Amino acid sequence: MVLIVGSGVGGSMVALELAKSNIPVTIIEKGPFAKVKDSANYYNDETNENIDLLKTTIVGGSSVVAAGNGVRILEDEMAKIGIDISKELDEIEELLAIHQLNDSHIGNGTRKFIESAKSLGLNVMKMPKFIREEDCLKCGKCAWGCPYDAKWSAQDFIKQAIELGANLMDNAEVIEIITQDNKVKGLKIKTKNGEEIIDDETIVLAAGAIDSAILLQKLGLKAGEKLFVDPFVTIGGVIRDIGYNSEVSMNALHIGRNFVLAPHYSMFITQNAGENVNPGDILGIMVKIPDDTLGRIVNGKVIKKNTTKDIRFIAEGAATAGAILTAAGVDPTTITSTHLRAAHPGGTAAIGDVVDTNLKTEIDGLYVGDASVIPKAPGAPPIIAILALAKRLGKHLVKELS
Ligand SMILES: Cc1cc2nc3c(=O)[nH]c(=O)nc-3n(C[C@H](O)[C@H](O)[C@H](O)COP(=O)(O)OP(=O)(O)OC[C@H]3O[C@@H](n4cnc5c(N)ncnc54)[C@H](O)[C@@H]3O)c2cc1C
Repeated sequence: MVLIVGSGVGGSMVALELAKSNIPVTIIEKGPFAKVKDSANYYNDETNENIDLLKTTIVGGSSVVAAGNGVRILEDEMAKIGIDISKELDEIEELLAIHQLNDSHIGNGTRKFIESAKSLGLNVMKMPKFIREEDCLKCGKCAWGCPYDAKWSAQDFIKQAIELGANLMDNAEVIEIITQDNKVKGLKIKTKNGEEIIDDETIVLAAGAIDSAILLQKLGLKAGEKLFVDPFVTIGGVIRDIGYNSEVSMNALHIGRNFVLAPHYSMFITQNAGENVNPGDILGIMVKIPDDTLGRIVNGKVIKKNTTKDIRFIAEGAATAGAILTAAGVDPTTITSTHLRAAHPGGTAAIGDVVDTNLKTEIDGLYVGDASVIPKAPGAPPIIAILALAKRLGKHLVKELS
C-alpha cells in the first residue's frame, strides 16, 4: 500500500496514477471533503509582517480556490536538471482540457486590458484555462470556490481515485512520519477520535510546501531552508460601471521580463480607491513576480523577507500595470494597490537539496510529490508543472511497486 499525505494538486495526481494501476492507496487529508463552492471557508492565511500567504485546508488543497490558470511552465528548467516532464505536461493539458476560453467568456474589462496592453506594444494573450465554458456563468468568484463547479480541481482526481478503489481519510492530520533504520515505517495521525498509527513502507508527502517541510524537519531533514512564494499585488482604479468584478478572473496574460500581469479584481482596491466606489467600478491588474528563494520555515512558521530585487520586480510590474490601466481609461487619480500577497509556496524540499530526481528523500520509501520539490520560483501558475511532476512520480512508483 502507499500512503499519501495531502489530497491537493500533487497528492491527488499521485493517488490517481497509482489507483489506475490497482496499487492500494490511502490518502490522508487534514481538511474536510467540503463542496468546492464552500471552499472560501477553508482559507488558512499564513500571514506575517512581510507577506500574506493564501492557502486552503480542504480536500483538493489550494486547487479548489484556483483561478483555473493552466500555464505550461518549468519544462526547460526541469530538463536542465535531468528531468523530462514534456510527456506528462502533454498528458495534463489533455486531461484538464486546457484551452483559451471562447470570446463569449472574455468580458469588457479583460478586453480593455488586452487592447490597452497591445496599444502600448506589449505582448498579451488569452490565459490558458481549465474552465468549462458550458458550466461557467462568469460570476468572477473563481478564488472563492466556483459556485458552478465549472473548473477542474484536485477533488475531481480524488473522486476518480476513490472510484478506482483508493481510500480517503479526511479530517485526519498527519503529525509525524515514523522511521526506523533510515526507512519509513508509517504515519502518526490525529483525528477527532485521538491519535493513531498507520503502518506502511511507501509514503508520498504532498501536504504543500509549508506543511511538508514541517513534517520533514521533524525527521531532521534539511527542508524549509529555502522558500519561494511568487508574491503579487493587484493594482487598480476606477472606470465607472465596467463590471469587471463579475468576469472570469485572470483571463489574459502579459509575460514581462521580470513579472507577469493578468486582469484581476480585488476587494482591497475597492476599499482603497476612494469614496463612493462600488465593486463594479474597478478594473485591476495582478502583478506577480518570481521571488528569491530566501524564505524559511522556522518552528512551524513562515519567515519571508522581500529582497531589493523582489521589490524592484514588483515596482516594474506595477509601473507597467499603471500604464495599461491609464490607457484603458481608468481615472489615474484613483489608481491604488493592495498589500503584498502570495499563493504559490514552493521550493522547501527542492530537487537536488532534499529529494533526488525521482523525488525520493534520503529516507527509504519516503517521497515528496508537491510544490516543495520545485527548485526556483516560477513567477507563474504552477499547477500544471506540479501535476506533471506528480504524474511522473506516480509512474515511477507503479514501476517500483508492481
Ligand atoms: C487563491 C489561489 C488561486 C490560485 N490560482 C492558481 C491558478 O489559477 N493556477 C495555478 O497554477 N495555481 C494557482 N494557485 C496555486 C496552486 O493552487 C498551488 O500552487 C497548488 O495547490 C500547490 O499544490 P500542492 O500539492 O503543493 O499543495 P496543495 O494543493 O495546497 O495541497 C496540500 C494538501 O495537504 C493538506 N495538508 C496539509 N498539511 C497536512 C497534514 N499535516 N496532514 C494531512 N494533510 C495535510 C492540505 O489541507 C491540502 O489539501 C492558486 C492558489 C491560491 C491560494
